[in-house]
Amino acid sequence: MIIMAEHAGFCFGVKRAVDAISDALKDNPEVWTIGLPIHNPQEVSRLEAMGLRVAGNDSEIPSGAKVLIRAHGEPLEVIERLRARGVDVEDMTCPFVRKAQEKAAMLSQEGYHVVLLGDKNHPEIKGILGHVSDKDSAQVIADENEASCVNFHAKTALISQTTQREERLERIAGILTGKSSELRVCNTICKATAQRQEAVRELVRNNHVDGVVLIGGKSSANTGKLRDILESEGVNVLWVEDEKETEANSGWLSGKNALGIAAGASTPEWLIDRVKERISLIFARRQDRKA
Ligand code: SF4
Repeated sequence: MIIMAEHAGFCFGVKRAVDAISDALKDNPEVWTIGLPIHNPQEVSRLEAMGLRVAGNDSEIPSGAKVLIRAHGEPLEVIERLRARGVDVEDMTCPFVRKAQEKAAMLSQEGYHVVLLGDKNHPEIKGILGHVSDKDSAQVIADENEASCVNFHAKTALISQTTQREERLERIAGILTGKSSELRVCNTICKATAQRQEAVRELVRNNHVDGVVLIGGKSSANTGKLRDILESEGVNVLWVEDEKETEANSGWLSGKNALGIAAGASTPEWLIDRVKERISLIFARRQDRKA
């Protein structure tokens, strides 16, 4: 028996961006992205076979080419530089990320000191920061310790990376309250990540499973987080990228009858289907051998 986690695979923003790349490749022999559009090697290979080109930075994209801005977004200056060079830019920044960019730009213009809660090396945070016109009026903090070091400002706006936890945002807001005469807190958290994490907890708490097959790229941080949660629930996890890796680990499936299936927000539906089909085949082979 196979039991799927209630929320698994592509989130809204990633699906929207990947669909846009696929559509653009129907009309253009080549379409560029800056950085990988998604942390899933099989999906990237599929898109590359259709004509996707991945640039390390905007200067590598030829004038006149077509570029899709991925769901994480980009700083405004990057988009302006591309357009100035005659690059055809289709901006597929996730609307949830866009909201954080717009809040940061607007509140900075209104004289707020902008505090961004998130990972300063993450492209999403770089993109949000890149929408603040006065860079000196903004800073990035990673946690409560860094929040306690924020200087006093008459007006402060707290904005979060979309993948942050609500509890942390609340704790940070509490710390910043004493560091400003006026604190604006913008909850720009997207629920997709939390939903997938809650779904794997429910999968193992509400069902008796002998193990969980987790599908996703090995470099995908959100899939890694799902693995950590599953292991902390004491469940046996097999993390695979595709059906071939599932087959190679068919020994892991022996003796298991009820299997959970989970997948990160960067795992496409077609890969989930292939892994599920392969597991069903392995189960069927086992039945045949018994008969
Ligand atoms: S996790 Fe949320 S904010 Fe990020 S791309 Fe997906 S839907 Fe958009």
